[in-house]
Amino acid sequence: MPRTIIAGNWKMYKTQAEAVEFLHEFLPSLDITPETRQVLLCVPFTDLLCLSKNLHGSRVQLGAQNVHWQDQGAFTGEISAPMLTEIGVRYVVIGHSERRQYFGETDTTVNQRLKAAQAHGLTPILCVGESKAQRDAGETETHIMSQLEIGLQGIDQTNLVIAYEPIWAIGTGDTCADTEANRVISMIRSQLTNPEVTIQYGGSVNPQNIDQIMAQPEINGALVGGASLQASSFARIVNYEG
Ligand code: PEP
Repeated sequence: MPRTIIAGNWKMYKTQAEAVEFLHEFLPSLDITPETRQVLLCVPFTDLLCLSKNLHGSRVQLGAQNVHWQDQGAFTGEISAPMLTEIGVRYVVIGHSERRQYFGETDTTVNQRLKAAQAHGLTPILCVGESKAQRDAGETETHIMSQLEIGLQGIDQTNLVIAYEPIWAIGTGDTCADTEANRVISMIRSQLTNPEVTIQYGGSVNPQNIDQIMAQPEINGALVGGASLQASSFARIVNYEG
């Protein structure tokens, strides 16, 4: 069985003081989260070190939101895998649609970042998903298959998480129907060589829809943006019924 992983993606939100305040409310709620659920916080770079200290001994793992493919070099604004692992980061989100849309991320650079993450023992969370125009044109499957084909070239599928995030559902409140997400995730799984890969759903997940989403047989977790910013709301999500 793939592992269940619920990850918060804080995007470009929260100062260190706000991050610590969040933890004070959030961590006690994990007492009732089943041990089998892995909980992650994928946070801005400046929050990583302070959260790493504050999460020590807790059940929450730390994730970054990007990583460069070189260990070091003249790459202003980037961060490398050794810099992340040194401070206790275990996961990294790669190829989020906001990186692809606003920062020119391509399937080829996504593939390079995935390789660097794995080479340093980080678990990458590869984000894939279609735009509204692609969905309306009936191109969801072909688009995702192409993202996977290039993104996963030479990638070790024993240390990998995939997040299916339909772009039209991200930050819009317009959640993908759970049965549709289940169908697309099943198609993604059919493209993989390792059936144990955790495949998450992401796109306007919230405390009201998480139970239904997680009841779908192919969905192994969630990547949560907006609703992970408030401790009580993210706590309800990680403590979903099921
Ligand atoms: C995300 O940031 O990956 C995301 C799915 O955002 P939201 O939950 O706000 O739609």
